[in-house]
Amino acid sequence: MKVAFHTMGGNVNHYETESLKETFVSRDAEVRGVEEFADVYLINTCTVTNIADRKSRQFIRRAKRINPDALVAVTGCYAQVAAEEVAEMPEVDLIVGNGRKSEICGLVMQKLQQTSALKHHTAKDRPEENGAPGAGRAEETHADVIVLPREELTFYEDMGRIEAGSDGMTRAYIKIQDGCDRFCSYCLIPYARGPVRSRPAEDIVEEVRALVEAGHMEIVLTGINTALYGTEPGAECSLSELLTMLDELETTEGRDFRIRLSSLEPTVVDKDNVEEIIRHRRLCHHLHLSVQNGSDAVLKSMNRHYTRAEYLDIVRALRDYDPDCGITTDIIVGFPGETEEDFRDTLNIVKEAFFGKTHVFRYSPRRGTAGAGLKGAVPEEVKKVRSGILEEAAEKVARDFRLSIVGKEQTVLIEEEEDGCMTGYTGNYVKAYIKTDGDGPEPGSFCKVIPRELFRDGVIASPII
Ligand code: SF4
Repeated sequence: MKVAFHTMGGNVNHYETESLKETFVSRDAEVRGVEEFADVYLINTCTVTNIADRKSRQFIRRAKRINPDALVAVTGCYAQVAAEEVAEMPEVDLIVGNGRKSEICGLVMQKLQQTSALKHHTAKDRPEENGAPGAGRAEETHADVIVLPREELTFYEDMGRIEAGSDGMTRAYIKIQDGCDRFCSYCLIPYARGPVRSRPAEDIVEEVRALVEAGHMEIVLTGINTALYGTEPGAECSLSELLTMLDELETTEGRDFRIRLSSLEPTVVDKDNVEEIIRHRRLCHHLHLSVQNGSDAVLKSMNRHYTRAEYLDIVRALRDYDPDCGITTDIIVGFPGETEEDFRDTLNIVKEAFFGKTHVFRYSPRRGTAGAGLKGAVPEEVKKVRSGILEEAAEKVARDFRLSIVGKEQTVLIEEEEDGCMTGYTGNYVKAYIKTDGDGPEPGSFCKVIPRELFRDGVIASPII
């Protein structure tokens, strides 16, 4: 059986697809590329924006065009929150929501058997069609929908441990947590993912061990809201305790590795507890702290539970601990009611927080969220202008951040060769280009360097010999 996987969305979805691939492969499936001919197409969707929904639908149609007889299974957040809409698509055979993903492989096998039995019957019952194009095809079945309501998403779904990760990659992602209960007014994720559930710490530690022993040297801990790890009632281990366990982890042959956190929500961390996290020896001094906006009025309307001053207090605490700590962020422009003054506050917070990178998004309302009902929509033209101004300002700040580490020792995890340089990222998340003359550090090794000058999107750095 040939199975093609297509993943939309962020790290958690990619991790889950990786886990599903290992399950299918353990049952003798061959993994195919998304544009290749396959017997099964498994589409792991995202619903973070309207565009993500549209792209999910486009890909479902494309899969069926590649092989009209293939079984198309759809999972992920779009399948969870809009199962009826997905079920109306004639191309779809199976819809599996969040919390049931670990069953997909078995459900696909079962559905294939049913489809093959149906083809057999159809051919017997309608012998005149036997051999005619389309006779007995899967379109005579309809989609099975296996979706739990949000209130039943109360358990951390065990999808098994990933043992090997992606071949040749220095970095691997590990999911440690699911769900979110913050209900930011622009976000559908708490509806799609359910309440907060944390993965058992021992399971995470064992998966880290396996991935490090398989050759991965940077492990990114990821979740729907990673900062909420261990905060639900009855949780046995906090994020800080988990990081301590990873600091103490001994692997075979003493293989070295580092940990990165995919993102932390300032709705959860604050100036008093952030040092408790960053102090861990294996943790990269880089946090992705999504500020989302620089205006108190907009933050309130977004239901973000912190002020710009509180956010900047966290930044200050991090830089007091390590002046070179890399802080990256996401910002939404054009949220309903955002004034020119609000936008100026956003421009200023980018400079004050000295972000190493800023991802800028234009607001688009999501059906079913509180933000979708807010008055004061910002015209698309204004959103476009503001996002352009913000991107330009943020790039200047990011450049200044990169410049600020010139001359200071950094550790780079070498990933690949690019235009005659070995490249990789520093702990504080600056891309380093190391000129080698064919005799430099190898991919998959740590290299101590001194950044010398700005170059492209990073810095030129020389190895410390
Ligand atoms: Fe969505 Fe807010 Fe939860 Fe992040 S913290 S997943 S933006 S609701």
